Amino acid sequence: MTTIAVNLQAVHERIARAARAAGRPAANVRLIAVGKTFPAEKIAAAHAQGQRAFGENYVQEAVEKITRLAHLPLEWHFIGPIQSNKTRAIAEHFQWVHSIDREKIAVRLNAARPPALPPLDVCIQINVSGEGSKSGAAPGAELALARAIAALPRLRLRGLMTIPEPTPDSALQRRRFALLRELKDQLAVAGIVLDTLSMGMSDDLEAAIAEGATMVRVGTAIFGKRSAN
Ligand SMILES: *Cc1c(COP(=O)(O)O)cnc(C)c1O
Repeated sequence: MTTIAVNLQAVHERIARAARAAGRPAANVRLIAVGKTFPAEKIAAAHAQGQRAFGENYVQEAVEKITRLAHLPLEWHFIGPIQSNKTRAIAEHFQWVHSIDREKIAVRLNAARPPALPPLDVCIQINVSGEGSKSGAAPGAELALARAIAALPRLRLRGLMTIPEPTPDSALQRRRFALLRELKDQLAVAGIVLDTLSMGMSDDLEAAIAEGATMVRVGTAIFGKRSAN
C-alpha cells in the first residue's frame, strides 16, 4: 500500500475508535482531508483510496488544484482565513466554506455565488481560545452572525467551526471543543438548528469527536509534514 493509503486507513481507525468511545456512530464523523501545500497528485491519490472531501486554505493554490482535478467528483471545503477580494473565487469553486467570521464576508460570498450552483454550505468560525489566537468571531457573536447568514439565500448555514490553540492540557482542549458544542446548542434554543461541528485536526481529533465533532479536518496525519505554509 502507498503511504497515503496507510495513513488514511489509520485516520479512519482513529475516528472509529474515538466515536466508539463516545458512544457515537463513526458514520456521523466526516473526514475532510486537508491538502494545503501538497500537489494535485497527492489529492488524486487520496481520492483513489475513496476520499472525497478535501480542505484548502489558500485560494490561488486551491483553484489551481480544483481546475486540475475537475474530472474527479471531489467536494471542496475552504477552511482558511478569507480576504474580501477572494470571496468571488471561493464562491465560484467551493461547495463548503468553514471560516466565515464576519457579516461582510458572508454578504460578499452570497452575492458572488453563481446562480447555476446550489447554495454554498457554510460554517461560522468561532475563536474558542481567547486572545491568543487570531481567527474567528468571539463567542457570543454567533447569534447575530447566524441571523444575518440565514437571511442570505445563496448561503446555507450548516454549523460552527473552530481551531483551538494547541495545548498540552487535555482537559482544557476538551473544554474548548465543548464550548463550540454549547454554542451550537444555544443557537438551537434560539431557533437556529445546525447539523455541523467542524473541529479536530491531526493532533486533537479524539478530543473533538468526544465533544461532538461531525467533521474533522486532517492534513498532516494523511499527507505528512508540510515543509512550509
Ligand atoms: C492546516 C489545517 C488543518 C489540518 O491540520 P493538521 O494539523 O495538519 O491536521 C485543519 N484545519 C485548518 C483550518 C487548517 O488550516
